[in-house]
Amino acid sequence: MSAPVVVIGAGVIGLTTAVRLAEAGRDVRVDAALLPDATTSAAAGASWDPFLAEPADLVERWSRDTLAVLRQLGADDATGVRLVEGTHESRVPRDVPAWAPWVDAAACDPADLRPGYVEGWRYCAPVVDMPKYLGYLVDRLTAAGGRLRQHRHTSLDEALAEAPIVVNCTGTGSRTLIEDSSVEAVRGQLVVVENPGIATFFCDDTPDAEELTYIYPQPEVVILGGTSDWGEWDLRPDSAAALDIVRRCVEVEPRLADARVVGHRVGLRPVRPRVRLESEHRDGTLLLHNYGHGGAGLTLSWGCAREAADLLRAAE
Ligand SMILES: Cc1cc2nc3c(=O)[nH]c(=O)nc-3n(C[C@H](O)[C@H](O)[C@H](O)COP(=O)(O)OP(=O)(O)OC[C@H]3O[C@@H](n4cnc5c(N)ncnc54)[C@H](O)[C@@H]3O)c2cc1C
Repeated sequence: MSAPVVVIGAGVIGLTTAVRLAEAGRDVRVDAALLPDATTSAAAGASWDPFLAEPADLVERWSRDTLAVLRQLGADDATGVRLVEGTHESRVPRDVPAWAPWVDAAACDPADLRPGYVEGWRYCAPVVDMPKYLGYLVDRLTAAGGRLRQHRHTSLDEALAEAPIVVNCTGTGSRTLIEDSSVEAVRGQLVVVENPGIATFFCDDTPDAEELTYIYPQPEVVILGGTSDWGEWDLRPDSAAALDIVRRCVEVEPRLADARVVGHRVGLRPVRPRVRLESEHRDGTLLLHNYGHGGAGLTLSWGCAREAADLLRAAE
């Protein structure tokens, strides 16, 4: 029988890691200050989108691993994952994105580009209803014998006193829990509107764009993005930012002009110079870190979970 594991954090990183470990036969408990619906992960758009992150070589592997899993999950409605066609478009000429071959992206016909855009790539991406998907991960964890407990840890030693293996998946929480000051919150805000019949996604991919504009359709609603506010920890939606998001998205997709706003979402991207995925031994216990995924937590989740499970096996 393998040693019990406590995973701290019930966002997409903690839950995916916990599912991997529980399905490999481990005794897993997830401890989280915020339950899945209240996390940054639940606020995310979200789509598989290899946002720039470091270390680049590992990010490629983790993204591609995750893509393969999400594509499989997209075959089952109950997961909240759907494979949706759409475009990344740029207002200026740019290099072909590095990820384009991974998804068989095709260059857009210039006649099909949105007004003001000069280049684009069309492909099929997993687009995820995050609250539903996190619920699916919890069900999968429970089915594999794992548990979820609402509990805020004040230190890793507190957690290590309860289990000999602890996995730190606390996102921006690592700034206080382990005093990692290299983790910065990058606040993101989204607007949720009724879907007026939009079936394809859109993402502005202009290099160095000052604004982050994207449109992710769900069956009933459309998620409109977004903002990227460095060092901002305020989780209250900002009404001026919401109006600006809607304005930018309507410019790209005029059918959104009369769409009724049904919600606002705010989350804190855990940005770090590099994703931290490593193990350390402490007085006969084993600590694994898996945090700092910035704007790409969903995109990296399954690849990082697999690597965390491999690290754990190697370190035991
Ligand atoms: C607006 C927006 C849009 C986004 N869109 C995308 C997208 O399209 N694609 C994509 O890949 N990514 C996207 N992201 C990024 C993605 O949401 C994050 O990378 C991801 O949610 C990080 O997941 P996480 O599990 O590390 O952190 P979180 O979801 O923040 O979860 C952290 C967990 O740790 C717990 N915790 C923290 N401290 C403690 C403690 N001391 N004790 C116990 N528990 C603790 C929290 O309570 C929580 O349960 C987006 C983010 C935002 C804000």
